[in-house]
Amino acid sequence: MNAPFPSRRPIQVLLATPRGFCAGVDRAIQIVERALEKYGPPVYVRHEIVHNRHVVERLKAMGAVFVTDLDQCPDDRPVVFSAHGVPKAVPAEAKRRELFFLDATCPLVSKVHVEAERHYAAGREIVLIGHAGHPEVIGTMGQLPQAAITLIETVEDAEAFQPRDPDKLAYVTQTTLSVDDTAGIVSALKKRFPGLPDPHKEDICYATTNRQEAVKRVAATCDLVLVVGSQNSSNSQRLVEVALRAGARDARLVDDAGAVDWSWFENVSTVGVTAGASAPEPLIEALVAAIAARFDAEVSEDSGARETVSFKLPRVLAE
Ligand code: SF4
Repeated sequence: MNAPFPSRRPIQVLLATPRGFCAGVDRAIQIVERALEKYGPPVYVRHEIVHNRHVVERLKAMGAVFVTDLDQCPDDRPVVFSAHGVPKAVPAEAKRRELFFLDATCPLVSKVHVEAERHYAAGREIVLIGHAGHPEVIGTMGQLPQAAITLIETVEDAEAFQPRDPDKLAYVTQTTLSVDDTAGIVSALKKRFPGLPDPHKEDICYATTNRQEAVKRVAATCDLVLVVGSQNSSNSQRLVEVALRAGARDARLVDDAGAVDWSWFENVSTVGVTAGASAPEPLIEALVAAIAARFDAEVSEDSGARETVSFKLPRVLAE
């Protein structure tokens, strides 16, 4: 039931910092917006540009057409590839058809692609730690021939994995995993294969790591943590898990304030609020306003890291 409480009782609202948009999401959205401005609608987008329902709906209203496959794109309109990255076969097909395409793959995902290719060129068998079916995993696996990469999702998978040659192994990871779960999987692999090298620079990206650290800081004192994000957003889902493990009594993923069931607030005196990397800040502000409309809210902000990362747009759009 979404009925307001009869009296405005006090509540503490702790805003995790950083939260919400990361540099890769910001760049991907700008690529679609600028393409719409420069070339006019429709602009086709292969896969949801980022995993957020509100972002996708807004871009649709501006003239973006979201498709699952290149087959659905006409030859004479621009097509954008999503921030999650695509298998090599996708740009290859776009080139064959002479489509005009813009690649919104996050540079930090591209970094993992390059790393996987480097290992493959050095004759190493590659383990990818990630979630089956996620577009980023499909994209990373699709950088190399089939069977070059083995997907590992759990510690059990790591314990059962049989490499061709234990001395010629390397691993890469999805960028939006749980830092702690991934450390457990890597440690299970290293126990079996002590020479397994680490990536030069952590594959789990700065935005995922910072948002998980921030939610950990606030969760321990929270009765409830609300994570603004869509159900298909991997990094948002991880924030819910991290909050629960860090001590929050309850944690929920909500698309927006309208998705809150206010019965969750029974016996809640402190609520934490954060957002996945694809969730726009106005949704967070609206959620805080909705809480303040029902409670005597005292809002405070966690003093986490300020992020300064930004990524360049493709040259054709930056001009
Ligand atoms: Fe890039 Fe990380 Fe944002 Fe994904 S979550 S788009 S990898 S910065």
